[in-house]
Amino acid sequence: MTNAKFKKKLDDLLLVCKKNLPKVDEALIRRAFEFGFDAHRNDIRASGEPFFDHPYQVARIVAEEIPLDDVSVASALLHDVAEDTEYQIKDIRAEFGDTIADIVDGATKISDIFKSHDVTQAESYRKMLLSMVDDVRVMLVKFADRLHNMRTLEYLHPEKQKRMARETLDIYAPFAHRFGLANIKWELEDLSFKYLNREAYDMIASELKSRRREREHYIAKFAAPIEKRLKEHGMKFEVNGRPKHFYSIYNKMSARNKPLEDVYDLFAVRIILDTDDSNECFKVYGTVTDIYIPNPERFKNYISVPKKNGYQSIHTTVVGPEGKMVEVQIRTRAMHEVAEKGVAAHWMYKETNSAIDEELSNWVNWVREIFESASEGQVPTQQLMESFKLTLYQDEIYLFTPKGDLKILPKGATPVDFAYEIHSKVGDHCLAAKVNGRIVPLDTQLKSGDQVEIITSKNQTPNPDWEKFAVTHKAKSHIRRWIKEEQRKLIEEGRALWERKVKKAKLSISEDDLNRFLHEKKIENIGMFYLGIRQEKIEVDAIIKMIQDEQKHPQPVVTEEGKIEGLFNRFITTARGISSGIMLNGTQEGIMHNYAKCCHPIPGDDVVGFITTGEGIKIHRRNCKNIRLMMQIDANRFVDVAWPADNGVMFVAGLKVSGVDRPGMLSDITHAISSYLNTNIRSVNLDSRDSSFEGTFILYVKDTEHLNRISDKIRRIKGVTRAERFEE
Ligand code: MN
Repeated sequence: MTNAKFKKKLDDLLLVCKKNLPKVDEALIRRAFEFGFDAHRNDIRASGEPFFDHPYQVARIVAEEIPLDDVSVASALLHDVAEDTEYQIKDIRAEFGDTIADIVDGATKISDIFKSHDVTQAESYRKMLLSMVDDVRVMLVKFADRLHNMRTLEYLHPEKQKRMARETLDIYAPFAHRFGLANIKWELEDLSFKYLNREAYDMIASELKSRRREREHYIAKFAAPIEKRLKEHGMKFEVNGRPKHFYSIYNKMSARNKPLEDVYDLFAVRIILDTDDSNECFKVYGTVTDIYIPNPERFKNYISVPKKNGYQSIHTTVVGPEGKMVEVQIRTRAMHEVAEKGVAAHWMYKETNSAIDEELSNWVNWVREIFESASEGQVPTQQLMESFKLTLYQDEIYLFTPKGDLKILPKGATPVDFAYEIHSKVGDHCLAAKVNGRIVPLDTQLKSGDQVEIITSKNQTPNPDWEKFAVTHKAKSHIRRWIKEEQRKLIEEGRALWERKVKKAKLSISEDDLNRFLHEKKIENIGMFYLGIRQEKIEVDAIIKMIQDEQKHPQPVVTEEGKIEGLFNRFITTARGISSGIMLNGTQEGIMHNYAKCCHPIPGDDVVGFITTGEGIKIHRRNCKNIRLMMQIDANRFVDVAWPADNGVMFVAGLKVSGVDRPGMLSDITHAISSYLNTNIRSVNLDSRDSSFEGTFILYVKDTEHLNRISDKIRRIKGVTRAERFEE
């Protein structure tokens, strides 16, 4: 392009912008023009034109036929840069900022989809297009792009022509309709039709051409007496001859299986009244049928009985001048608006979700308002544009593999869902994910348009946590299946471990004993027991030891359910006859002895032996109040006793704990206990009243030192005010 030519093109574009757009950033258009021109300088179109002619023409279409703003025009000038030249989105971002870069990026992504897919699932793609673009201007640029490509389609290979035309008819035209871009829709349809069915197109074109003048003349003649009469009544209205488009005529011909003559000769006139009073429509009907004879069989009153999609209008067919049948539609302006949306809804109401329909209608209206306000010279504020996000089909997001394959997932889907969507093996070995080239956490919620790459590793296995954030059934069920399988393995390993230990300890444990033990420990089943062992949540050595102890000391016979005393009694009974127990006068013999129920001595306590009749020596704490009295009465019955050296025997002792109740208190206390030397808890009894609690914890301890350490720990827990040895 010579300098003069270049300058002329730029000036023309600026002129068109200024004429059609409310506000033009001239410098922006100029920069975009120069950048685009430079980027495409080496490329040639199929038509032989320099490639830049295409983005230039697209920019003109945007400025003239879909005038919204200067940003759209600049984006149009740049829309193929990332696709076809050495420049990338990041270059555009650096030069023109995020808004334009995002629009160009969106337009490029849409092109990519069509490159890598056939369009047999048109509906999916329509949805996808809607959901994946954040900025409506992406679509405007895309419509203009497609329109220009369709206008210059003749230079392409016939096979490519057909493919493009099919795509345009299936996707872009209905889409344009939804956007309220009626003229673009008609043109896209007619151009598609031209390449898809050239013969029919040429036939209709020549017929219409030869009859156009005649037709316009006839409509004017038909409308004249009606218009005159309505004006006399002081009515405001618009009569239009409903221009026919090639493709719609063709559709009518095929639908009714009639020759063009018949379709074409059915003239159609629409009278739109500028009133809110629907009764006026009937008055107009009266006027029309006063002038022309109606065919009563063709009268339809959709005003009193609207169509399902809300369509309202009066339809009638009358005999016009020269005996020709003329279809007349009468409606108010408001009904006309609804009718327009209703037409847009013709494939919309096939969708089952009526909420989506409503949302779509609102959205289409909003788009329309924006166009209207733009054409009235009110610039849509930047803010409005920013917030103008497409929120359609919120329940689905559209994602791409690095190769550009499309995956549709529910909203909220994460890389884990995406991985399982690709293949269960990809999911099972999913290690990390890159979204748009960046590593992200696996619980990241993906967005429409994201390109997701899953990084796998042979050694990686599903993480049970995934189940918490995965949303697809596929992902969840695979994760669960894996967890189950994994658990089964762990349970087996836990069982083997347990059996080895039991054998080594030369224990024989009946199933009943084990079940009783599990029940006491509140372990729900044997599987969870083995799993706990395998995961080292249950200390198998401590349990073996406990069972050894239990087996050494016969099970208690009497228990008073729920009572602390009862539990102590159990212990006392259990402790009776410990052979390696108390020492009398420095010797440790097989002395029959037991521990007093009143004071429950444990090693470390200062103790004294009381000689009973028939029960051997009863061991009391020296400060036991019962004993102090007895010593005064019968001092001869007391003997000095001492605790033997630590022989690993555990004693039961009780702690009384009280304080301010709160959630988690019990678990904090039990944690404090069991985290010290793996202390086993025999029973817990916790009473809450109002905001305070009082609890009793019966523990297995070695000695007073052991017990003191634990009570110190408990006292440090927030909310605990007291933790004392159980003295009863
Ligand atoms: Mn293009």
